[in-house]
Amino acid sequence: MDNLFRKIPKIDKLIELKQFDKFNKKVLTEAIRENIEFLRKQIKEKKINDFKIDVLIEQIKRRYFFLLKPSLKPLINATGIILHTNMGRSLISKELLENASKVICNYSNLEYNTQTGKRGQRYDHAREDLSKLLNVEDVLVVNNNASAVFLILNTFAKNKEVLVSRGELVEIGGSFRIPEVMKESGAILKEIGTTNKTKLTDYKQAITDNTAMLMKVHKSNFSIEGFSEEVDFQEIETLSKENNLIDYYDLGSGYIPKLPYNLGQKEPPLLKLTKTNPSLISFSGDKLFGSAQAGIIAGKKKYIDKLKQNQLLRMLRVDKITLSILEETAKAYLKEDYEKIPTLYLLNQTTNSLAKRAKEIQKNIGKQSSEILETWTYMGGGTLPNRKFPTISLHIKGDAIKLEKKFREKGLIGRIENDMFLIDFRSILPSLDSKITIIVKEVINQ
Ligand SMILES: *Cc1c(COP(=O)(O)O)cnc(C)c1O
Repeated sequence: MDNLFRKIPKIDKLIELKQFDKFNKKVLTEAIRENIEFLRKQIKEKKINDFKIDVLIEQIKRRYFFLLKPSLKPLINATGIILHTNMGRSLISKELLENASKVICNYSNLEYNTQTGKRGQRYDHAREDLSKLLNVEDVLVVNNNASAVFLILNTFAKNKEVLVSRGELVEIGGSFRIPEVMKESGAILKEIGTTNKTKLTDYKQAITDNTAMLMKVHKSNFSIEGFSEEVDFQEIETLSKENNLIDYYDLGSGYIPKLPYNLGQKEPPLLKLTKTNPSLISFSGDKLFGSAQAGIIAGKKKYIDKLKQNQLLRMLRVDKITLSILEETAKAYLKEDYEKIPTLYLLNQTTNSLAKRAKEIQKNIGKQSSEILETWTYMGGGTLPNRKFPTISLHIKGDAIKLEKKFREKGLIGRIENDMFLIDFRSILPSLDSKITIIVKEVINQ
């Protein structure tokens, strides 16, 4: 054993090896240290009785490159869920990102007014395009929609009552709970109605001198079926106006062009909501809108101005990366260039084109190991609850649990349905098809 310990080369000697010529010394030292520590442990516990220096060097190399790998890495989302919260929600197209990079990689007029040569307003960017797009007086962008909710409640309802239907006191993924966010913001939650039914009279009767706001919250990831009733935002708006109160709709998600497969049946598009000139609405930038993570607040200028005066805004502000990507997305919307918005592109693919791609891959991997299925999927991301729509999946035959793991190890995250492992094309960009073919071949030939 002592001999083996003595056989371990000194760290200084290893660093000097010519195999490590181009390696960063600091990272290399760490890789060597970790490997030697492991080796010592193995010798001590008598798990090995010899080792080869060459193998040790290879292991150090492998560890070195592992240490330099970023923790964030791309995955193939083959679950069919386009807005997969755990896999980064909305995709940004390369083209829009490249356009935005001109601003991101250079100095810019982020807070500089080129006409006056003086300090400008960060919030002026993206604002004009988004206001035009949403047909509202003004827009303010913050870090995410959770921030938007918080800022709005804190600005207008601190120590004042906000009326919310009991059917809308939701928890959204990641433990964002409306009642708790309200409490933190300083607003007083006044629950009205019941879990399944809330009527306009419930709002009317609950208004007191201390009421500041009538708030509607999108139910996001669940829906109430059967004996239920909720009040349209337009009616809440009218009641607010009659009582000089603020109406606010936390939409969660918002969309502009018509959704395919009748998905918009229960969800009015943004432009229908803004038609009646609500005080405030807010939604996520990276849900159905299909852009960067952000909270987009839209509505009347006098209220947006008030929000801008809140000191909290500084904590919730967005940087140039978000703003420039949002501007690019807004421009794509204004030009009706929906193909440039990957979320919409994926959603709007026909099942015919998905089936064609599945067939092409099947041709390359052989028919005996797979079959093409017409299945159903959901949008995800807390949008369009319980609204399924058609998709095409490639069923890879075999033990679903084992296959899921094998594919996951290769960075392809699929879905198990009825004990079948499925690769659902709804959430896969066509540019990934050749990579998928390679991965499938590797897995089934293992
Ligand atoms: C998703 C969602 C939020 C949170 O939005 P983020 O952008 O994830 O912070 C808030 N409210 C509703 C209704 C939502 O659906």
